Amino acid sequence: MPVTYRLAKDFNVAANIIRAQVAPNQIGKLVVELSGDIDQLDAAIEWMRSLHITVSQSVAEIAINQDICVDCGLCTGVCPTEALTLDPETYRLSFTRSRCIVCEQCIPTCPVEAISINL
Ligand code: SF4
Ligand code: SF4
Repeated sequence: MPVTYRLAKDFNVAANIIRAQVAPNQIGKLVVELSGDIDQLDAAIEWMRSLHITVSQSVAEIAINQDICVDCGLCTGVCPTEALTLDPETYRLSFTRSRCIVCEQCIPTCPVEAISINL
């Protein structure tokens, strides 16, 4: 089932795949940013659930331990939304929580394990 194609064609909902862990013919997990009209989004989510796709909104939060962060900037390179940036004047890491979509891509990049997720 070409789900993202049907989301666009049938519901006018754009699906931006942030992270995908899917093995052929296996259960998989996608982190997807959906954008479109609110009513169409609701209808699209209902349609996906009718296909037995489990859909959940992200409620987890990323946490940065400033005490151990060394401001190396490695995490900023993988952040798709620029929630993580280095301040150009102070060279310190800046985290804008409102931009974070909890894709978790930054977590494995941190060499000192300063990034974690609060579920
Ligand atoms: S989880 Fe990390 S990489 Fe993903 S959006 Fe949030 S800060 Fe950026
Ligand atoms: S990768 Fe880790 S140590 Fe480097 S800036 Fe990001 S949080 Fe800080």
